[in-house]
Amino acid sequence: MYILVSNVGSTSLKFKLFEMPQERLLCESKIERVGSDDAIYYYKNMESGLEERKNDCSIPCYSDGIRMFLSSLTEGEGAVPEEARKIEAVGFKTVLAKGFYGVHELTEQVLEAMREYLFVAPAHNAPYLEAIGQFKQVLPGAKMVGVFETAFHKTIPLERRIYSLPYEWYEKYGIMRMGYHGSSHSYIAKQVKERRIISCHLGGSCSLCAIKDGQSVDTSFGFSLQTGIPHANRAGDFDPYIIPFLKNEGLTEEEILQAVAKNGGLLGVSGVSNDLRKVQEAAENGNKRAELAIDMLAVSIIRYIGSFYAELGGLDALVFTGGIGENSNLLREKICLPLAHMGVVLDREANKMCRGHGMISATDSPVKILVVAANEEIGVARQTYDCVLGQ
Ligand code: AMP
Repeated sequence: MYILVSNVGSTSLKFKLFEMPQERLLCESKIERVGSDDAIYYYKNMESGLEERKNDCSIPCYSDGIRMFLSSLTEGEGAVPEEARKIEAVGFKTVLAKGFYGVHELTEQVLEAMREYLFVAPAHNAPYLEAIGQFKQVLPGAKMVGVFETAFHKTIPLERRIYSLPYEWYEKYGIMRMGYHGSSHSYIAKQVKERRIISCHLGGSCSLCAIKDGQSVDTSFGFSLQTGIPHANRAGDFDPYIIPFLKNEGLTEEEILQAVAKNGGLLGVSGVSNDLRKVQEAAENGNKRAELAIDMLAVSIIRYIGSFYAELGGLDALVFTGGIGENSNLLREKICLPLAHMGVVLDREANKMCRGHGMISATDSPVKILVVAANEEIGVARQTYDCVLGQ
């Protein structure tokens, strides 16, 4: 069975085509900076090794990216064999749907539940709904499956999930910490054998997860994706009373919520970009706001590591994953160096040399520091396969 996994990030699109249950990867594709005129397109056919790379592409929306990928899949030298184009299911790393928190076929009812939570997860549900709609048109015979990001966090005890708000809001409206990035953190939980882990998924969206004995016991994300540590262009946690304060200053609620969702995080503070590479470049060239944005991100992460360390009763492994976690040795250094007193001892040279995967702690470091390439797609492929088989 051929299963396509589509990972629709807040600023990126990724695809992997698997033959299941062998878990054989046939091709992969990644598009970065979706929504811009300088998007990066990458495609690789794993069988032939043929790679296609294009910089400065104009990819204004997700449907353009999907079309570009599907033409690489079917045309030219990178095309996959005829039988592999009969994609039986598309698995999506979906985020949030009212009342659906596990693995579900994306029926009209589930899509409606995603639409109902559009305002809770606008940066994610909107692109997913667009991508799913596109795929339904292009691949009408394929089953569309959503592997929701909230599933891994069901093991977090209630005293950590509940907000200190009226209890009736939890009962009546389901207001609590949901937690996201479940596919990424659960992959880390399987890959890393240590008992007490803090998994740092740092990319367009960023979150930390405390993992004990393979289970999520806490996470930085709350009810919506507008929470936790700062993201590429979303604010993360901030005092809710800033909203009525700004309304009193003359801003509309819509303006405030737009700014929180689109002009916060790295972009908002640096004023440079939502892409850490560009922010780092600006900081190297003396831009103080860019430097401030990077330092702000690092300390927000350190703050959560401290509280998760206390909750876990110590730490065996600190793990970095996601586009930033895998690639920014600068950010990893800014996070790890101040943590030496907690037994997190970085090997600075190993960190500088690390290319997406490896151990970067000093040999005598009590806590292992690992960089693990995110592979959320394999978990999604497995669960999609089971869903197609009706298990
Ligand atoms: P993701 O959402 O996991 O695909 O991560 C995408 C983000 O990773 C980009 O927006 C960049 O901010 C970041 N990134 C990718 N490569 C690098 C790099 N070499 N250095 C710093 N940040 C990077």
